[in-house]
Amino acid sequence: MTRAAADNAAASAATRPGHVTLVGAGPGAADLLTVRAIRALRQATVVLVDDLVDAAVLRYVRPSARIVHCGKRGGAVSTQQGFIEAMLVTEALHGERVVRLKGGDPYVFGRGGEEAAALRAAGVAHTVVPGITAGIAAPAEAGIPVTDRRWAQGVLLVTGHAQPGHAGPDWAQLAQTARGGITLVIYMGITHSADITAALMAAGLPGSTPAAVVQSGCTPQQRAHVGTLRALAGDIRRLGMGSPAILVIGDVVRAAALMQDGGSSIGLPTPRAATA
Ligand code: SAH
Repeated sequence: MTRAAADNAAASAATRPGHVTLVGAGPGAADLLTVRAIRALRQATVVLVDDLVDAAVLRYVRPSARIVHCGKRGGAVSTQQGFIEAMLVTEALHGERVVRLKGGDPYVFGRGGEEAAALRAAGVAHTVVPGITAGIAAPAEAGIPVTDRRWAQGVLLVTGHAQPGHAGPDWAQLAQTARGGITLVIYMGITHSADITAALMAAGLPGSTPAAVVQSGCTPQQRAHVGTLRALAGDIRRLGMGSPAILVIGDVVRAAALMQDGGSSIGLPTPRAATA
């Protein structure tokens, strides 16, 4: 946008004060919305909704509001990001109170940063309502405390999916990070789990490292599986698990394994064997 266009946009925003709120809807359960998110939904006149957002969340939207679905699941073509950004700007400049509703947290692999930048460039007032991100919540519901100090000093949120034209994450470096006691939480990694786990093991992360997958975490369809890094990709295939899912790699997965089967799923000795 040119300087003059930005000035015009800003002037028109000043006379017709539209506003955009980037709202995190949480990991997929309506009761994991924040109170602030509900307030924003109630005030909205236009709501742009991502896929992965639980339809039950929309019950807070007033009947007169316009709801626009922008998603790529179910075989539909993804709504172009540029189109979404242009729509946010246009609606706000028409004086609408726009909510951009995104799964999890808007700034965690949610492209909320790009949308905020587009709004800033167009002079549109905007705020953010943080949400509960799937990478923390889905493991939690599966019994995995991602920074349990008995096993980890921190957690790293990483994508398993390289952006077109970009190199993916440096798995060799991440293997060292994980060896140093940092839990790896991998978003969008399930379809590439064989490559990811192979790369981590090739770089020296032991195949015996506890690993888990949580599909559709925090929803009634949640499925979780706990095992080892070596077995993870095969387990995912065998169990027919798929997106949306979070992979968790690190000793903190022991917490879930201990709760589930005393740790035998990750090769920990059973209490009886331990005392024998
Ligand atoms: N902004 C979102 C992430 C969007 S990227 C957040 O903060 O949670 C989409 C990825 O998030 C999915 O591919 C999957 O890896 C993860 N994801 C989203 N919802 C999930 C859920 N309910 N259970 C497991 N993973 C989920």
